[in-house]
Amino acid sequence: MGLIALLVAAAGCGSDLEFQIGSSSMEPSLQGPAYQARCSVCAATQRVSVDSYRPELATRCVLCGGNCQVDSQASPGQRIHVDPLPLQELPDRLAVVALESEGGQGVMVKRAWGLPGERIEIRDGDLWINGKRLQKTMDEFKRMSVEVSQYPQRPVGRWSIANRGKQYPMVSWFEKSKFTLQSDHRLQWTYTRPAAVYPQETNSSAWLIASPIVDDLPANQGLSYTLQVVQDWGISLELAEPISSPTFIALQGTALPIQVQLVPLGWVTVDPQTSELQVNAGAAYGAGKWSAKSGFYQAMVTVQQQVDIAVVDGRLLVSSDVEDRQYDLSPLRVQSVDHKPLSTDLPPARFVIEPRGGALVIRRLAVLRDIYLRTTHRDGGGREEYGIVPPDHLFVLGDNPPASVDSRHDFGFRPASSILGTVRVPQR
Ligand SMILES: [Zn+2]
Repeated sequence: MGLIALLVAAAGCGSDLEFQIGSSSMEPSLQGPAYQARCSVCAATQRVSVDSYRPELATRCVLCGGNCQVDSQASPGQRIHVDPLPLQELPDRLAVVALESEGGQGVMVKRAWGLPGERIEIRDGDLWINGKRLQKTMDEFKRMSVEVSQYPQRPVGRWSIANRGKQYPMVSWFEKSKFTLQSDHRLQWTYTRPAAVYPQETNSSAWLIASPIVDDLPANQGLSYTLQVVQDWGISLELAEPISSPTFIALQGTALPIQVQLVPLGWVTVDPQTSELQVNAGAAYGAGKWSAKSGFYQAMVTVQQQVDIAVVDGRLLVSSDVEDRQYDLSPLRVQSVDHKPLSTDLPPARFVIEPRGGALVIRRLAVLRDIYLRTTHRDGGGREEYGIVPPDHLFVLGDNPPASVDSRHDFGFRPASSILGTVRVPQR
């Protein structure tokens, strides 16, 4: 019975509670018991959750697509600390809470999504409240997001550098603590996932296939018929030095293609009308716009060393160490693929980073995807209405919907009186 997020050990001390996570229902925020899988081709390791592992299926390496050996001994779930909630108080939306499970048989950990009086609906991977899509802030998105790929530690996907039609190998830069992208060189990334066929039937170049980003957390790979396409994703870029000249970043997924121009603080331009010098002091740029010429929605942001860019919940969010911006994209969305199973005719997720006029020194570059809320455990995004949350109740969900027992179908709304407290989720 792998689905229930029972916490297997409880050690009360004073009014504080400590538990051990017993399932994968809150991955990746909180980690349950997992096997370590080691790639027999590239030796990389990855986790496979105990409760979603299917030994009859091959476990494939997300880096190279090779076959993995899975350990027989699992590592235990993470230990968590629960802070008691003051009496009569409800947790904040999106707080992680520990609750008594039905019948008092154990304790489970979920996230509070719906509050009393709210009409709850899941549509195509997102939560809707009283007929409006819940729109997360950049902070909330980052806090709950799933890391798809990351330089330098886990470079999932196909990375390449090109300049004037020439391709440069990426050989050694993943071993370095920082990486310099020369001016006018294009850094390109395409998401890949292990193909269903391996390896006798194909050569190694076919072990990975370019793909839209999918909710593959519970899959030991190759389970493509249960995967859902995740439309909402973005990147988080940290630089070792402040940028010195404009840099263009383009993100192209299954939603609207976007391009964001990063402009250095103090960058000097000449106004074409008045010929006057203009110095960028930050927060000087207006609304983004759709450009039919480039085929991108274009926006600008002032940046020094840090910027996050994401298409989330119908908006483009751009947040740098200088300013925060958000643009409503819902009227512009050209094509929505939500609630469509994975198929080969969908475009893969990709981005391009291109500095113009000065090098870019990258310290960390992560691709993050949004949580995808399924209406059922097994297949499908789809739509489902859950009614109105009664007084003193909550609508709670696990962060890993395919593996979570929660308010969708299993126990409905949970009374606030079953809440033991809030859980501190470690920073990732
Ligand atoms: Zn590998």
